[in-house]
Amino acid sequence: KGVVHRICAGQVILDLSSAVKELVENSLDAGATSIEISLKEYGEEWFQVIDNGCGISPNNFKVLALKHHTSKLADFPDLQSLTTFGFRGEALSSLCALGDLTVETRTKNEAVATHLTYDRSGLLTAERKAARQIGTTVTVKKLFSNLPVRSKEFSRNIRKEYGKLTSLLNAYALIAKGVRLVCTNTTGKNAKSVVLKTQGSDSLKDNIITVFGMSTFSCLQPVNICISDSCKVDGFLSKPGQGSGRNLGDRQYYFVNSRPVDMPKVSKLVNELYRGANSRQYPIAIMNFTVPTKACDVNVTPDKRKIFFSDENSILLALREGLQQIYSPSNA
Ligand code: ADP
Ligand code: MG
Repeated sequence: KGVVHRICAGQVILDLSSAVKELVENSLDAGATSIEISLKEYGEEWFQVIDNGCGISPNNFKVLALKHHTSKLADFPDLQSLTTFGFRGEALSSLCALGDLTVETRTKNEAVATHLTYDRSGLLTAERKAARQIGTTVTVKKLFSNLPVRSKEFSRNIRKEYGKLTSLLNAYALIAKGVRLVCTNTTGKNAKSVVLKTQGSDSLKDNIITVFGMSTFSCLQPVNICISDSCKVDGFLSKPGQGSGRNLGDRQYYFVNSRPVDMPKVSKLVNELYRGANSRQYPIAIMNFTVPTKACDVNVTPDKRKIFFSDENSILLALREGLQQIYSPSNA
């Protein structure tokens, strides 16, 4: 199957967190070591992602927000070997269609930055010089404002959307090594409040301590499970009896090759083994699956949160055995 065929066109921007996710992933793809996410009214008014990545070169200004423009695919022979988060060129064009998009950017080859404004169809409508360090700032104002029903829904659910976003940012804060992440929110005339702030450490352990605190970390134990020659799981799980009374969605983080993903089957298995062995509690789980890029397909859904393993059953089986060793060593 051709690359184009497998790039299913679909709606990428479903809500606030998928919008910010796309921008953060663009910053990561651009090699940023510092990413700042600013929200106004929890993102309802506007949100902005500021990075110190490579910037966007002037010959891309016009095409940047056009559908299917991507600068990334050319670097890879096929989708199988893809290592960047993005490749479809859909995020910026979708954001244009759903809100007011401006971009301010500067590469190392430019002496000054450029401020760019795009219209709903992704056409560049204004361009002016601006002061900025090397990197890119993308701002989206009034997301969904042109879709009355969705806009109402968005306003009504904004705190929930915001909660989902902070949980997603936690995922990046945990896994993105060496990347400083800051998220702030401003409401009314109040001063900025800091939602999340990490130093960009190089270890998962330090990142867990930054995000959840030392007392949470001390309730965890390391997991290292070898699934096959080329496949393994590393991370941290609650020690027996040290879980949480509720199944808090924001306490389990799964990654495949360091990409945040949803893994309902794995989550179910982890809960089942933990609860079966020890308690009525739910474990905290932070687990990264390292698998050959050939063995998985993250392109099942447009937002890339779902993942398809070519050999899912054997992965689940090996995981079950590994977790049994940890939680009920006597019957393993
Ligand atoms: P994709 O990430 O799939 O390529 P996007 O619509 O997300 O598509 O972005 C389009 C293009 O804009 C990218 O391929 C990249 O060239 C450029 N771009 C977007 N955000 C950034 C950023 N923060 N830094 C550098 N380049 C960026
Ligand atoms: Mg992208």
